[in-house]
Amino acid sequence: MSNTTTVSVAGPSQGVKAPSGGSEVRAATSVGVTSSPFWSTGIDRLKAYVPGEQPQSDGWVKLNTNECPYPPSPLALAAIREATSEKLRLYPDPNGTALKAAIGKQFGLGSDHVFLGNGSDEVLGHAFLGLLKHELPILYPDISYSFYPVWCGLYGIAYKLVPLNAEFGVDVADYAQPNGGIVLPNPNAPTGTALSLEALRTLLQANRQSVVLIDEAYVDFGAQSAAALIPEFDNLLVVHTLSKSRALAGLRVGFALGHPTLIEALARVKDSFNSYPLDRLALVGAQAAIEDTAYLAQLTSAVIHSRDWLIAELAGLGFDTLPSQANFIFTRHANRLAATLLAQLREQKILVRHFTQARIANHLRISIGTQAECELLVQALQRILAAQPDQKNEVSA
Ligand code: PMP
Repeated sequence: MSNTTTVSVAGPSQGVKAPSGGSEVRAATSVGVTSSPFWSTGIDRLKAYVPGEQPQSDGWVKLNTNECPYPPSPLALAAIREATSEKLRLYPDPNGTALKAAIGKQFGLGSDHVFLGNGSDEVLGHAFLGLLKHELPILYPDISYSFYPVWCGLYGIAYKLVPLNAEFGVDVADYAQPNGGIVLPNPNAPTGTALSLEALRTLLQANRQSVVLIDEAYVDFGAQSAAALIPEFDNLLVVHTLSKSRALAGLRVGFALGHPTLIEALARVKDSFNSYPLDRLALVGAQAAIEDTAYLAQLTSAVIHSRDWLIAELAGLGFDTLPSQANFIFTRHANRLAATLLAQLREQKILVRHFTQARIANHLRISIGTQAECELLVQALQRILAAQPDQKNEVSA
């Protein structure tokens, strides 16, 4: 267990982050502005999320945004094709009744335990506003999904960062402190390591007074879902996405599972914002994908197989990789700078992700591609490492 609790950024008192979004501003837009009298108060201080690059040309090996390298379920594509009809003149079902029932059935929960959103980012955003804005700061790991502080800034939610331990893992005992809610990605991103169901149960037993949100974007690649604990804990919200294991990042579908009291808060936020977050194509495509469990098993086992192969190959090249239960790995080379490797891979049209945060500035997050893409990556790294003598590592992480 780590004994220090670092606080995010210097705040007004006790180190709890001021919910304003801080003094940092997003880089100037294409028109070169950072503020304007036309903007509502506070917009100039928003620090927005910057998504990974989506190249606009072909020929890239794209290992930077944790998409699935394989196509979606053929049944999902057929359902979308069939729904591409004159019926698109009609609004979709605002409640997503059939999709909720299909998801509920998969998890052994009633439809009243399911909430749908336009990608899990929207579901998470609604949860931050509807369930996590209280007097006390919310807690989440210091190295985690970088959208969490963005929602805190947007909605004025105070937060406190809890450091990962020396092995970049989560110690649930570190969360036994007063809080307005706890947010944990499991597996964590960008580290890829996961907590067991027993560790999550321990966390929930010690924290019954506020919402515990488990972000399970990557759970299907080897971790255990906390959804099994929902009947026991009415403060547990589990969030899933169809963007990763179901290969539907382009369709934008996510969902939350939890006690109907939690779901009701999310529904109120949603219906105060956009009644129809999922269009007709998304509703039917998502339902077919959720029901095609055989295809899910096929996709995830292919990704897991390539992940384990890649970790072993990288070890042979001098990389130290965290154990991963996700569709990406988090790795560092003993004596090469991550930022340099990122640029050298880019020159070979291979995109990976690098974060500049001090503790992880010398790590790369690499999404698992097809087996052929993983082999291309290894060959590119072999060329890069052979081309130059070893450099002394300048970044300690
Ligand atoms: N949670 C985590 C931990 C993620 O990495 C992502 C992907 N960026 C999301 C949620 C959001 O995924 P989506 O909006 O595509 O469902």
